[in-house]
Amino acid sequence: MKTFVHRGQVTKVVFGSGTRSRIPEEADALGCRRLLILCTPGQADQAAEIRDLLGAVAVGTFAEAAAHTPVEVTEKAVAYARAVEADSVLAVGGGSTIGLGKAIAVRTGLSQLALPTTYAGSEMTPILGETDGRRKTTRRLPEALLKTVVYDVDLTVTLPTATAVVSGINAMAHAVEALYAQDQDPVAFLLAGEALDSLTRSLPVVARWPDDGEAQAEALYGAWLAGTCLGMVGMALHHKVCHVLGGTFGLPHAETHAVVLPHVVAYNASAAPDAMARIARSLPGDDAARGIFDFAGRLGAPRALRDLGMPESGIAQAAELIVRDGYWNPRPVDRTLVRALLTRAWAGQAP
Ligand code: NAD
Repeated sequence: MKTFVHRGQVTKVVFGSGTRSRIPEEADALGCRRLLILCTPGQADQAAEIRDLLGAVAVGTFAEAAAHTPVEVTEKAVAYARAVEADSVLAVGGGSTIGLGKAIAVRTGLSQLALPTTYAGSEMTPILGETDGRRKTTRRLPEALLKTVVYDVDLTVTLPTATAVVSGINAMAHAVEALYAQDQDPVAFLLAGEALDSLTRSLPVVARWPDDGEAQAEALYGAWLAGTCLGMVGMALHHKVCHVLGGTFGLPHAETHAVVLPHVVAYNASAAPDAMARIARSLPGDDAARGIFDFAGRLGAPRALRDLGMPESGIAQAAELIVRDGYWNPRPVDRTLVRALLTRAWAGQAP
C-alpha cells in the first residue's frame, strides 16, 4: 500500500498558441488594474508587444531582470513598482524574470502572472531563489506562488537553439528528481514520466528543426509538467549540486543542469530502481545515466563543467559544500563519491 501526501495545484494555467492575447482578460479576472511588466533587457521587444495588448492597464516596464535574482535588482524593482502604484506584476521571460516577479510579490503582496519563455519551470513553483553578494538562498514560500500562468508557444520561437536544449534538460532534471523524491507523490511521479516522454520526444526535433511548432509545443508542455513536479515535491542531490556550483562559481543555470544530470543519475541508480525503470521508458536502454548522457550529447549540450568556467581547484570546495548540510538523497551523500562525480563532470567524462 502506498502512503502519501498530495498538495493540489492552485495556479491557473492557460496553454496554447497565440494565448498571449488572453493576458488582458486573465489580468482582469485577477482584478489587476495597474500591471507592472518585467523582463530582461534582451526581451524588451516581447514585453513591449504585451504592453501594447494591455493598453492603459500596463503602468510600466521594468526591463532589468538578471540571472540568479540579485537582491539589489529586486529592491530597485520594488521601488519602481511603488512609484507607479502597481497592484500586480507580469513576468515576460524565463526563470530569471519570473524569479524577480516572485521576489517582488513576496516583499509587497502584489499578485503575479507570467508568460514563460523558457523551459525552466519556475512559474509553477513556490520556490524563491535569491542572491545577496555571492550567497544564493532558496526558500519555499506560499506567497511566491503565481496566480495565473499563460503559456504561449509562440514566445519560445525566439529561444536560441542552444538555450532551448539546455533549458529542456533543466526541465528533465526536475522530472528525474521528482521520480525519486523523498516525499513520494504518485501524481508527481505520473507527471514526471509524462514530462520525460514529451521532452525526450520533442527536444531532438527542436534542436534539429528550430521552427517546428508542434515540437516546440510538446517541449513547452513537458516543461510545464516538469515545473509542476518541482513545485510539488522536494528535489535531491542533483539540485543541491547545481545550486552549489551556480552560487559558488557563477556557472550558468541550465547549462550546469545539463552537464550534471547524468552523473547524479548514475550516483543514485542503485538506490532508485523505480525511477530508473521509468526513465528507461522514455530513453530505452539498460543504463538511465548513460541514456541521458548520450541524449544530451546528441543535442549538442555542453558536457564539461570546465567548459562552463569552473576551476579544477573548486572541486574539493564544491564537494565540501554539497555534503555539508545533510541534504536528503535516495543514496547517502558521501564526500569522496561526490568528489569523484564532480571530477568526471568537470572533465566531461561519461558517468
Ligand atoms: P533566464 O531566464 O536567465 O534566460 C536566459 C536568457 O535567455 C536571458 O537572457 C533571457 O532574456 C533569454 N531568453 C529567455 N527566453 C527567451 C526567448 N524566448 N527568446 C529569446 N531570449 C530568451 O534562464 P532560465 O534558465 O529560464 O532561468 C534560470 C533562472 O531561473 C536561475 O536563476 C534559476 O535559479 C531560476 N529557476 C528558478 C526556479 C524556481 O522554481 N524558483 C526553477 C527553475 C529555474
